[in-house]
Amino acid sequence: PTPSHRWQRVLLKVSGEALAGDHKENIDPKITMAIAREVASVTRLGIEVAIVVGGGNIFRGASWAGCSGLDRSSADYIGMLATVMNAIFLQATMESIGIPTRVQTAFRMSEVAEPYIRRRAVRHLEKGRVVIFAAGTGNPFFTTDTAAALRCAEINAEVVLKATNVDGVYDEDPKINPNARLLDNLSYLDVTTKDLSVMDMTAITLCQENNIPVVVFNINKPGNIAKAIIGERVGTLIGA
Ligand code: UDP
Repeated sequence: PTPSHRWQRVLLKVSGEALAGDHKENIDPKITMAIAREVASVTRLGIEVAIVVGGGNIFRGASWAGCSGLDRSSADYIGMLATVMNAIFLQATMESIGIPTRVQTAFRMSEVAEPYIRRRAVRHLEKGRVVIFAAGTGNPFFTTDTAAALRCAEINAEVVLKATNVDGVYDEDPKINPNARLLDNLSYLDVTTKDLSVMDMTAITLCQENNIPVVVFNINKPGNIAKAIIGERVGTLIGA
């Protein structure tokens, strides 16, 4: 996208790690408020925003699997439940500043949130509501990045905006090599062949197969969320 480009409907992916901010295994209310404010500023322009939240700040299935006999599927269900906690926190924050928001979960928790119904999600977006998708894909062995790619394709959003704690994708690990270069553009092929650990293979190939561009950007820089949503150049753009 060029600075003049305007997305109409975007899928914002917020990882658990990004939500944690300074609160390592928790949620940082400063971050959720920053998301709420910046999302509010773009929905006022008529841009439709759907959000997929991660859960890694609370529980990551793969790292727990194997511990004390926990099988992977059970661990992953706990991970998916963690994303629901983040979603409700984010929803409450958004509504506290007057943004109409709906949470839809990939498996039923009807006392807490709506079940995921694609057409209903689209209708909410058309009415200017922010839709937060929780519980990932609803299936163990997947990630919320894959959920982001999947929901993006399903609701015909134009782009996955992946909010992280780094400025974008580097050619090398900047923690190891301080001279690592931030890459402005990358192809799907670069991501899948160069081991750049942007997102897992399932997620990136789903984006590739559906021609969904991915923008990886730093959520901690004030204004970045709004810029990414509007289509200003931030971070790294991954595409064909
Ligand atoms: N998860 C899952 N299926 C999904 C999405 C998530 O089983 O479709 C589980 C998985 O255990 C994962 C956890 O939920 O570790 C939290 O999601 P993720 O690690 O993707 O969150 P993030 O890294 O974005 O914080």
